[in-house]
Amino acid sequence: MLPSYHEFKNRADAIRAQIAAACVAAGRDHSTVELLAVTKTHSADAADYASRYGLRAVGENRVQEAVDKQSQCTARIQWELIGHLQSNKAKLAATHFDRVQSVDSEKLLNHLDTAAAALGKVLPVLLQINAGRDPAKFGAELEDAPRLLETALGKKNLRIDGFMTIAPLSDDPAVAVRTFETLRTLRDELAAKFGVSLRELSMGMSGDMEAAVRAGSTQVRVGTALYGTR
Ligand SMILES: *Cc1c(COP(=O)(O)O)cnc(C)c1O
Repeated sequence: MLPSYHEFKNRADAIRAQIAAACVAAGRDHSTVELLAVTKTHSADAADYASRYGLRAVGENRVQEAVDKQSQCTARIQWELIGHLQSNKAKLAATHFDRVQSVDSEKLLNHLDTAAAALGKVLPVLLQINAGRDPAKFGAELEDAPRLLETALGKKNLRIDGFMTIAPLSDDPAVAVRTFETLRTLRDELAAKFGVSLRELSMGMSGDMEAAVRAGSTQVRVGTALYGTR
């Protein structure tokens, strides 16, 4: 059940305050961290809330679910795909999303580039990296990241904004910290190596967003803390 807009606004205000505090602790400007509202499993109203609150974008993890919501939603908001994408859905994803964060293979790069070309657009993407080496998570292995990035940078119809990761589920907060720092270091190394900015680091969720901000996250993806448990 979706909370009232009033309740949503209180939660969003609290999350922004948490992000701002984590930025102060890390010596960062709070305007460098974006809140992405994760609306998966919720009704299209969840995207309307995010828009009304002034957020730029919402995150969805299934292509078809997002397509259905978009048809019911009048909100002016961007849609980002944060869930695993199969190559056979690349065309649908390229059509319906403003950015795809879950790109983790050359095959997917090829399909998305072809789809974006056919649509006459340049599709922004992030490369998803399994920075926590979690067997339960999607994402390219750390060792494969340089090659994947090199291939990605060669795609005319894709714009590579940076990287995304999901920390392994763990009782030990140090695991998430290590995961986020690993991705940040990888980004710094590859940005220097390839002479590109790769500014976006999409990392941190309801349970670990402060650790992510301290490690350099530029976008936290928050569902539960905004909309309640799914
Ligand atoms: C569901 C999801 C989130 C949001 O998780 P919460 O714990 O509900 O904040 C973030 N990122 C991805 C990739 C997700 O699938």
